[in-house]
Amino acid sequence: MIPSFFDSVLQLIVKTSTDLPPDVRAAMRGAMVAEPEETRSGQALKIIAQNIDQAAEGEGAICQDTGMPTFEIKTPIAANQVWMKQQVRLAVAQATKQGYLRPNSVDSITGTNSGDNLGPGTPIVHFEQWERDDIEIRLLLKGGGCENMNAQYSLPTTLENLGRADRSLEGVRKCILHAVWQAQGKGCSPGAVGVCVGGDRTSGYLHAKEQLFRTIDDVNTDGRLAELEARIMGTVNSLGVGTMGFGGNVSLIACKIGALNRLPASFFVSVAYDCWAYRRLGVVLDGRSGAITNWLYRDPATPVLPMIDQEGFARTGREVLLTTPIDEAAVRQLKVGDVVLVSGRMFTGRDAVHAHLMKHEPPVDLRGAALYHCGPVVQKDGEGWRITAAGPTTSIREEPYQADVLRRYGVRAVIGKGGMGARTLEALKETGAVYLNAVGGAAQFYARTIEAVEGVSLLEFGTPEAMWHLRVKDFPAIVTMDAHGNSLHKDVEDASAKELAALKG
Ligand code: SF4
Repeated sequence: MIPSFFDSVLQLIVKTSTDLPPDVRAAMRGAMVAEPEETRSGQALKIIAQNIDQAAEGEGAICQDTGMPTFEIKTPIAANQVWMKQQVRLAVAQATKQGYLRPNSVDSITGTNSGDNLGPGTPIVHFEQWERDDIEIRLLLKGGGCENMNAQYSLPTTLENLGRADRSLEGVRKCILHAVWQAQGKGCSPGAVGVCVGGDRTSGYLHAKEQLFRTIDDVNTDGRLAELEARIMGTVNSLGVGTMGFGGNVSLIACKIGALNRLPASFFVSVAYDCWAYRRLGVVLDGRSGAITNWLYRDPATPVLPMIDQEGFARTGREVLLTTPIDEAAVRQLKVGDVVLVSGRMFTGRDAVHAHLMKHEPPVDLRGAALYHCGPVVQKDGEGWRITAAGPTTSIREEPYQADVLRRYGVRAVIGKGGMGARTLEALKETGAVYLNAVGGAAQFYARTIEAVEGVSLLEFGTPEAMWHLRVKDFPAIVTMDAHGNSLHKDVEDASAKELAALKG
């Protein structure tokens, strides 16, 4: 019907998944300037920057979690939206087949992955008509780790460390600060927040997410909200959450606030938290041909500058080399802050694998193993497999299981992001194991440390949830929970709680 529509949507998906928009790149460059290179945040930002460049150069997914594809489409009045939606779905399935999107659509009752990102509710496609002849499509890819950090407040309420939040812009300010503080590194900070003041519970979240389509330098047309956005950005970084929750000078790169009318009895503040892998792009299409006439958020005529102009993550010589199977003595020598390079066999395992291990023996010997919380993007490669994106997933989801897995099966290193809780910390101490924080979202960077995919177990859970047997070389990570009962995550959370209290006003 519109001959190039499908190809244009596919191009939009590929570009959004692989090439971060210039305004987000600029904000991340600013973060790199603000964090001294030798700090944990500085090192993590170096890896992130290298990853952004690798993704754009190799046209690979910036992060292995390619998120919930959310399309906002404006069409001419007479356009056939039923046909367009079908084409969008076909383009999503094609992008998934080609490895630009990870299969992320899971039956909520059975846990079965549809394999093509299609299913009830996925992808999300919203249409709006406008009195123009062309078509505008915007796409946001927002992953699960940051989605889990969204927050909705019903005012008035009392907030930890901040006290009472009233039905006022001052109360809204407290809610936003609280949401950023509680996200810590779990949503791959430094993040960006879209906020909605008012609406109902559903429209509030939607409008909050829509704010993420604004550019980072966009100034709110509502002077009151513009002032609040500026105030938040002027103070939020004193929280000290830093990159990946490692502590540091930059916790947030953007705050965009909208408002909707509300019922007199309700006052919701909805916060949509996005990670540094803030992937959103848009295109304008010719209404007849469907060809791209213009890109939004980026100008193809202006070359995108690389994030780093020299070598990326470089060794200092102080890194500790760990080879699997790892022995207990080596782990007991590690302390919070050490940088390690892991080599040898590594097994992936996330939600489905952990739940499985509660009722079944592991399919492989996990004694001395490195267990990586990761749901990679995997492509069939002849008889074997190729992993094209493999950053860490949020570890806290495995907190109900991890201590048992450590005690029962002798895992020596748990690798993930965002840290884990008190039960896991206790089990690490008891069993002589360690938690290693990899840099969230650095999917291309970590994929390049994989020398081979040696096998797979539990493939019936779908490719992101299966247990992949990887051979890695010099996989870098930071010890953030050691076998002596220390947790960097707890330290940063406690310190930032004090800073949060200082912003009480
Ligand atoms: S960067 Fe982190 S929070 Fe964002 S999609 Fe990737 S894993 Fe999830």
